[in-house]
Amino acid sequence: MTKKKSYEFKAEIKQLLDILVHSLYTNKEIFVRELVSNASDALDKLRFEVTKGTDVKDSDLPLEINIRTDSKKNILTISDTGIGMTQEELVNNIGTIAKSGTGEFLKKLSESKEDASTLIGKFGVGFYSVFMVAEKVVIKSRSFKKDAVPVKWISDGSGSYEIEELEDDLKRGTEIEIHLKEDEKEFAEEYRIENIIKTHSNFISFPIKLNGKQINTISAIWREPKSSIKKEDYIEFYKFLTYDTEEPMEIIHNSVDAPIQFTSLLFIPKKSFDLFGLSKDDYGLDLYVRRVLIQHKNKDLLPEYLGFVKGVVESEDLPLNISRETLQQNVIFSKISNSVTANILNHLKKMAEERPDDYAAFWKEHGRVFALGYSDFANMEKWIELYRFNSSALDDEKKLTSFAEYVERMKDKQKEIYYIFGPSREAVKNDPHTEIFKKKGIEIIYLFDPVDEFALNSVRKYKDYEIKSVDQADLSKIEKLENVEEDKEDKKEELSKDDKLQMASLLAKMKEILGDKVTQVRESKRLSDSPSVLVNPDDSLSSSMQKILQITNNDNSIPKRIMEINSDHPLIRNLLKVFKNDSHDEYIKEVTEQLYQTALLLEGYLKDPHKLVKDINKILEKSSEWYAKIKNLD
Ligand code: ADP
Ligand code: MG
Repeated sequence: MTKKKSYEFKAEIKQLLDILVHSLYTNKEIFVRELVSNASDALDKLRFEVTKGTDVKDSDLPLEINIRTDSKKNILTISDTGIGMTQEELVNNIGTIAKSGTGEFLKKLSESKEDASTLIGKFGVGFYSVFMVAEKVVIKSRSFKKDAVPVKWISDGSGSYEIEELEDDLKRGTEIEIHLKEDEKEFAEEYRIENIIKTHSNFISFPIKLNGKQINTISAIWREPKSSIKKEDYIEFYKFLTYDTEEPMEIIHNSVDAPIQFTSLLFIPKKSFDLFGLSKDDYGLDLYVRRVLIQHKNKDLLPEYLGFVKGVVESEDLPLNISRETLQQNVIFSKISNSVTANILNHLKKMAEERPDDYAAFWKEHGRVFALGYSDFANMEKWIELYRFNSSALDDEKKLTSFAEYVERMKDKQKEIYYIFGPSREAVKNDPHTEIFKKKGIEIIYLFDPVDEFALNSVRKYKDYEIKSVDQADLSKIEKLENVEEDKEDKKEELSKDDKLQMASLLAKMKEILGDKVTQVRESKRLSDSPSVLVNPDDSLSSSMQKILQITNNDNSIPKRIMEINSDHPLIRNLLKVFKNDSHDEYIKEVTEQLYQTALLLEGYLKDPHKLVKDINKILEKSSEWYAKIKNLD
């Protein structure tokens, strides 16, 4: 009894097909790579079932991919002896359940000029690429499950597809028959297909037979001795593995025999793959156990902050029947994982020492991800030596330095390491919080990315030195250090005893004026050029960290700060005169408000610039009046 059923493609897939069918892409040949890679996946899955001891259909069938070209009929057929699909799986895998990547893929395709072929592989929408060249596709599949019924699937890539059960007993696996469009005849030519396979699929680990003749060289390059592998072979394998069009930045090939045997072939790409914000899923290493692919993109072999590393790990010592779920609890697995992590960190260390320019290029590309390693406590000592940043000791924002170098440059009695976070080098250089550090010639680490603020905020220590944000620095320690900047010539004289008391009253007055907006108004030890600054009363959190947390919590409030006043500043000295004359003078109120507003602006908390501008104009108006008066211009 044969039943034929018709299904609609899911809307997103329809849209995708529409684009693939009607757009003229170059490099359409990659559909072969996609179908062959699906066939290879299906074979890997079957081999995995067999090693688990599952009783599979046609257990004596060889594991291979067969391709036939028929240039007379204009048909290309790709078949495999893999796990196959049941009717339900066909419906689910191809047609109704849109992959999470589909929407993202469509968006990217419409936005960028990038060719579909480079995007297809990355988004896991590979199968549909066949409709770039096909006017009709017929899939026949027979699942490895013993009681499954063979099924046939037909579609022309427009809105729908048909499925029917087959009467005759197919052998296990999947056959995809591609009826080529008139313009795409070339893909029914044997030499053309052979060429494509050699370019894109040469490292597939199952025999690929084209019209009966095996054309790939199935060698697992990572198992071969390093000395016998040419650089070109590594590069070719890397491109095969990642679909990257560029060569890798670094190649790390290691073989370990004791205490646990494993081999790893790892690559650091030249460009970060984090292009689409999808990298969360697009990382991991392929894990083989005794030649069987146990898991594609295993995410537990490496910590997330090394997620930019691509490659393959194989071990003889893991049990073959291990399930993906229990991998993580396996002691051997975690030892391998630790070793692989250490290998990479050691490689980076060597790179940093011997090839600093290459290391800088690495940092520029992958530093943002690597910075997440602040949570890897086990490798903290290694990680922190590899961490890089810009700082006040460098003359340009592109340059990088390390903690080791910072410590070498440190002042004699300096006990802490300081950093500041801000939107740009210009902004942090001019931040009032840095004034005392400049005066003392203390280096400040410049951070421009919240990730780095998180990192240093949680690392807290390098060797014996505490790492602190400038606004958390213990100023009493810094004050003791010698000045490197000559005190300004026009430095104000010390205040008299009486003036000191008056200054204290002025500060009290300012607090009264600002009321609840600040927790305290006090004299500053950190300022030399600015009249005022806001500081965080909460010692446990730097201001910038507090701001980042506020943003993540959607909190718009202005946190309460201490306002610090530079009692040597001419503005404050003048204000003191006014205050001494009349402590209720309105002018004190105007200036105090203004000092608060501008300090708030620098802290990034000023929500409404209108009041600030209005107040500035009011003060400017007054000062212009006085200026005209002094110059006798009336
Ligand atoms: P992906 O390979 O990234 O999952 P594809 O669009 O290439 O995406 O394939 C979709 C799904 O169809 C696969 O995940 C798989 O479940 C199924 N599939 C495709 N080709 C085969 C095949 N030859 N044998 C078995 N299943 C297949
Ligand atoms: Mg695929």
